[in-house]
Amino acid sequence: MSETLPPLPASVASVFETVRARNPHEPEFQQAVHEVLDSIAPVIEANPEFAEAGILERTVEPERQIMFRVPWVDDAGHLQVNRGYRVQFSSVLGPYKGGLRFHPSVNLSIIKFLGFEQIFKNALTGQGIGGAKGGSDFDPHGRSRGEVMRFCQSFMNELYRHLGEHTDVPAGDIGVGAREIGFLFGQYRKITNRHESGMFTGKGVQWGGAEVRTEATGYGAVFFAQEMLAVRGEDMSGLRVGVSGSGNVAIYAIEKAYQLGALPVTASDSSGYVVDDAGIDLDLLRRIKEVERGRIAEYAAARTSARFVEGERPWSVPVDVAVPSATQNEIDADDAAALIGNGVRIVVEGANMPTLPDAVAAFQSSDVLFAPGKAANAGGVATSALEMSQNAARQRWTFTDSEDKLRAIMRDVHDAAFAAAERYGRPGDYVVGANSAGFERVAHAMVAQGII
Ligand code: NDP
Repeated sequence: MSETLPPLPASVASVFETVRARNPHEPEFQQAVHEVLDSIAPVIEANPEFAEAGILERTVEPERQIMFRVPWVDDAGHLQVNRGYRVQFSSVLGPYKGGLRFHPSVNLSIIKFLGFEQIFKNALTGQGIGGAKGGSDFDPHGRSRGEVMRFCQSFMNELYRHLGEHTDVPAGDIGVGAREIGFLFGQYRKITNRHESGMFTGKGVQWGGAEVRTEATGYGAVFFAQEMLAVRGEDMSGLRVGVSGSGNVAIYAIEKAYQLGALPVTASDSSGYVVDDAGIDLDLLRRIKEVERGRIAEYAAARTSARFVEGERPWSVPVDVAVPSATQNEIDADDAAALIGNGVRIVVEGANMPTLPDAVAAFQSSDVLFAPGKAANAGGVATSALEMSQNAARQRWTFTDSEDKLRAIMRDVHDAAFAAAERYGRPGDYVVGANSAGFERVAHAMVAQGII
């Protein structure tokens, strides 16, 4: 991948060469660093104190990387060994913050790309949180509840020593939902003999979780789309929406799109996608994915207006708004060409880095509004910060209050990215805007706190 990345401006090129040399087998990490460096070269050029303080050289190196063995015993009595990760990238703005991903594809490169992105996303929220990410190559699919619990307990047996409400606060991500968070939090409480609510976010609302955290990433992405449309004097009503994934982000993006009068017509998982021209039946989708933990093909089998397309992604379906919400690198140049050919007007990344660089370039050169995940999916972590505030104050805010706060944060994130894009001479470029606005906040704090 990195060989195909275009050359960078001179002010940042040598930093990228060091990253490439030092992390030779980490294509996703290199891709994420390249994208940020490309965007923020004008920020470096306009602020000589950032170069003097070595901000870039320090930012691309995690403060700490933890890798550990996770042994557990499956239901058949066999030993299983997985690998656990936590990459603590930056604590300059607050405690490390970022989700845990359990998926067989997880490796150090993926965790580092996610942790690196998280620094700037978290800065953009303005909520005083640092950047981190973690996870394991464990696959919860097809595992019994007992197996998932034993895995989570073993994972936390090692990770707990690196966590804490003022140190590092994980949350969910792919494969880590309410069930896994419950087991992880329970084991931390057992080991430390502390009910430390603020050490994990995404908790159940009955035991310290915040209203709207579950919905926040999907809702936030659609709020972001609403803000982008508002700049053009438009809104979501009547628009056809294409969503990928059928997990946490996808389900709540679909729900909010409906609430704003749009028509979501696709959903997917790693086996293929469904298209339903009558609109995705959200109750059916939730029953299959959340209750029965089934596959997306079962949706089409249960609904006459839908069809299942095996092994494909949903980007050939004509839509006005695309919300990729599954995983990284799921829209390539061909997918972008198909979406553009079918008249897509906005692409809003619900997932982290779902769009490959040449696809981003294709959208931007075709006048398609494009929102990077760093800005558009920041609602999840922002609401996690609200959960931390409530835990610290022993308060509980209502759903309506929390959703209002989320909406206001997404407006602020949008406006910060929009304004930074204008400031650096790239109006309407939300990639440059989000990276620059997030980076500026991190860089100023790093200058102030000295070389550490
Ligand atoms: P979930 O595990 O709830 O859902 C993930 C969905 O994506 C599933 O439908 C899954 O299908 C699909 N998927 C996962 N990996 C692949 C793959 N390699 N190829 C095709 N489909 C895949 O995760 P979330 O909804 O929480 O996360 C989705 C994305 O959003 C991720 O990029 C995550 O980092 C990002 N995100 C999530 C936040 C949150 O608050 N949850 C916050 C910010 C970003 P299958 O079941 O078949 O694997």
